[in-house]
Amino acid sequence: MQANYKPLEKKLLQERERVQGLMQAETEHRSSLSETGDLERYGNHPGDEGTETFEKEKSLALQSNLQIILDEVEHALHKLEAGTYGTCDECGAEIPYERLEVRPQAALCVRCKSKVEHTVMVSSLERANSTF
Ligand SMILES: [Zn+2]
Repeated sequence: MQANYKPLEKKLLQERERVQGLMQAETEHRSSLSETGDLERYGNHPGDEGTETFEKEKSLALQSNLQIILDEVEHALHKLEAGTYGTCDECGAEIPYERLEVRPQAALCVRCKSKVEHTVMVSSLERANSTF
């Protein structure tokens, strides 16, 4: 018996719209930064370039975070279509409805999620060690 995922689907669609809107806003924000940047190069604000670069980097970082969320949301919507929504990508276990309510794009059960986070942490530690 499948749980009723309709309210979660609605949440996911809203989230997708929200994230896409934010990404669009960041793109516009950056293009307005370069426009003023070009003008200022001929003006008398030579000190603003560092701030502008920082703003751009911040905006790019924010946008790549948004992209990750968007990918997760898209993935969850695909799972809804495929009828696999609410199950863990990793072990196939059912993801508790309460977890999905808090985070509708969750693709892993709590156990697999903590395993993945642990693996990521360990592999980045290994990378750090081999660098030195
Ligand atoms: Zn799992």
